[in-house]
Amino acid sequence: MEPKPIKGRFAPSPSGRMHLGNAWSALLAWLSVRSRGGTMVLRLEDLDPDRCKPSFCAGVEEDLQWLGLDWDEGGSAGGDTYYQSKRSDIYAAALEQLRKKDLLYPCYCTRGQLHAANAPHRSDGEVIYAGTCRNLTEEERREREKTRRPALRICVPEQEIRFTDRLQGEYAESLTQDCGDFILRRSDGVFAYQLAVVVDDALMGVTDVTRGSDLLSSTPRQIFLQQQLGYETPEYCHVPLLCAPDGRRLSKREADLTLAALRESGMQPETIVGRLAATAGLIDRPEAISVRELIPLFSLNRLPKEDIALRWEE
Ligand code: GLU
Repeated sequence: MEPKPIKGRFAPSPSGRMHLGNAWSALLAWLSVRSRGGTMVLRLEDLDPDRCKPSFCAGVEEDLQWLGLDWDEGGSAGGDTYYQSKRSDIYAAALEQLRKKDLLYPCYCTRGQLHAANAPHRSDGEVIYAGTCRNLTEEERREREKTRRPALRICVPEQEIRFTDRLQGEYAESLTQDCGDFILRRSDGVFAYQLAVVVDDALMGVTDVTRGSDLLSSTPRQIFLQQQLGYETPEYCHVPLLCAPDGRRLSKREADLTLAALRESGMQPETIVGRLAATAGLIDRPEAISVRELIPLFSLNRLPKEDIALRWEE
C-alpha cells in the first residue's frame, strides 16, 4: 500500500496576536512537513466565543504570511470549513456516535466541587475527575437538570494508552489514573478542544501533528477518542516550549513579543526566523535566514526535549 501523503497543520487559537512562542511551534510544524514534501492546512481553533475574535484570525494569517509560512488548504480562503466555530454540526455528529456507544454522561458538578481541596491533579495541572456524576440515576439527573445545564463527559476505561512521539519518545498514560473522565461538551454548549481537534485532524486527513509540549499530556485522550470514533492516529511530535531569553514562559499577554510589535519596530522576518532556527539548533549562529532556506537544514536531532530559552543575542 502506498504510504499516505504527509499533511500537517497550523491549529492556532485566535485569542490574541501571535507571539514568538507561537511562531516557534508554527515554524517547526511547517518545517517538519515541508522537509518531507508534505502539505499544510490552516485551521482556526476559535471554539471559545469569549476568548476568540475574528480580528485575531486575520492577524494569524498576516503573521504566518509575513514569516513566509504558507499553507495549501484552509484559512480564510478555505471558508467556514476551517473555522471550528462553524463546525458544530460535525462535532455534534461525533458526540452522537459516542453517545450510541453509551460512553457519555451528563455532569452537573460546579467548578467549586471539581476543585475540592483533596482532588487529584493531572500532570498538566487539571483536576482528575472523581466520577461523581457517572452513576446518577435518571431521577437524580432530572432533579439536577432543574438548576443546572450539564457538561458532557466521556467514561474512560481501565486502559493504558501508549505512543511514540517523534521527539519525546515513548509516552504512556493510564486513562483512569492519569486522566479520568473528561469533558467533550461544556455546560454552556461549547464543544471541548479534545473532541474538536480529534474530529478535525481526522476529517482533514492530517498525518503529522507537530505542536508544543504543553499538549503532550492531551495526546492519550485524543488517541482514546480516535479509537472510539474509528479514526487513524496521526504521528505526533511535541516540541519544547520557547521561553523568553530571561527564562519566563511566553504568553499572549506579553505584547512586546508579538510578531506584530516586532514588525512595527522594524524587525525583518528573516531576523526572527534566524533566531528561532539557531535556538532549534538548525543553524550555528542566529543570522538572518528565510524559512525556505531552512527546509533542507531541518532535523529534529538537535532540538532539546525540555523548554528552551530563545537565542536572541547577535
Ligand atoms: N489550538 C491549540 C493552541 O493554540 C493547539 C491545538 C493543537 O495543536 O492540537 O494551543
